[in-house]
Amino acid sequence: MKYKIITFGCQMNLADSGLLASYLNGRGYQPAESEDDADLIVLNTCSVREKAETRVFGRLSELAGLKREDSRKKIAVVGCMAQRLGERIVRDAPYVDIVLGTDRIFDLPRYVENGSDIPAIHTEFGYEDIEELVPVRDNKYSAFVTISRGCNNYCSYCVVPYVRGEERSYPVSKIVSQINALVGDGVLEITFLGQNVNSFRDGDADFPDLLDRIARETDIRRIRFMTSHPKDMSDRLIETIAREPKMMPHVHLPLQSGSDRILKMMGRVYTFSHYFSLTERLRAAVPDISLTTDLIVGFPSETDEEYRMTLDAVRAVMFDSAFMFRYSVREGTAAAKFDDDVPEKDKIARLVGLINLQKDVAFEKNQSEVGKIRSVLVDGFSRRSNNILKGKTGGNKTILFDGHEELIGTIQKIRVTSADSWTLHGERAE
Ligand code: SF4
Repeated sequence: MKYKIITFGCQMNLADSGLLASYLNGRGYQPAESEDDADLIVLNTCSVREKAETRVFGRLSELAGLKREDSRKKIAVVGCMAQRLGERIVRDAPYVDIVLGTDRIFDLPRYVENGSDIPAIHTEFGYEDIEELVPVRDNKYSAFVTISRGCNNYCSYCVVPYVRGEERSYPVSKIVSQINALVGDGVLEITFLGQNVNSFRDGDADFPDLLDRIARETDIRRIRFMTSHPKDMSDRLIETIAREPKMMPHVHLPLQSGSDRILKMMGRVYTFSHYFSLTERLRAAVPDISLTTDLIVGFPSETDEEYRMTLDAVRAVMFDSAFMFRYSVREGTAAAKFDDDVPEKDKIARLVGLINLQKDVAFEKNQSEVGKIRSVLVDGFSRRSNNILKGKTGGNKTILFDGHEELIGTIQKIRVTSADSWTLHGERAE
């Protein structure tokens, strides 16, 4: 049977899709080039914003024609949207055969192979770890490693705790063996994933302990992680990032708003001054660190002045990059009870203003890279030319430089020669 997985949303979904592909391959399934060519089409979905869900419904209606042409094709919707809207998916798209929630993804072959249960809708929580798998991935040299699932923070705007369930961490020993398997498969860099990696806990081991053990007990060359909650950014974690050479100098630390009143309404349990002091401590400990963030504008009742506080925060922290969004209501969350009273045109204008500011800030930050020599994991050719290589600096910035194929899959010293807001350009320094 040939399968095609279409992934929407965040890195957690990409990681799950990579593991699912590996699981299916191990059971004799084969990857298909396209949906036309596939016997099984899997949509791994996202619920974080309404737009993401609308895109999935749009994609499903495109797939309806394929199903009409060949009714033996199976269509599965898995992940966050399946968890949240299971029954509705089958009602609105009755040609969908299988709907599996976030903890049930690896039950997929069972339902594919046992057609009598269709349509199958399963969304019970209770993730059972499957055998160790090396995920299928686009990047041969970097891999995501999920270390925890779910979230207990219940930020007022966010559906994640409802669709991914309570926070659960994987055992350290399992993570060590997964990384050993990845190293054996040629991986040089791993990114730990979790909704809130820095609240990881396995018995007595917390997140800094995990980082220390991975650095000590495996041959992985570079370690990253995302996402962190500011409330769990401890001094021990900052000290570990500063001390351990395998830790890459990059922290993604979602701020969300520069206004303390809005942060309180969001349930974020920190103030901007606390957040700012964390960024100062990180920069004091790791002077070259890249700081990236998430920001939301147009949260219910956000005034112009509070929006300007977010702009001020961006200027004060000088983020290397940011994911920026305008607020949209998610049914079932605490914020859905607030009056969504910022007019759409104001939300859009605020978002455009924020993006323009962050573009300027990113340009300034990237200009300060010019002349520096950075350690770069070279992971392929640039999109434009096979004479230009691309890679990632420790600070997670994309850099392009002239070079030959044999450098792909190595770590090189590259001098930054120029930069724009998104990309660095460089030359080999040795
Ligand atoms: S920390 Fe907040 S924003 Fe992040 S996943 Fe949990 S509830 Fe959502």
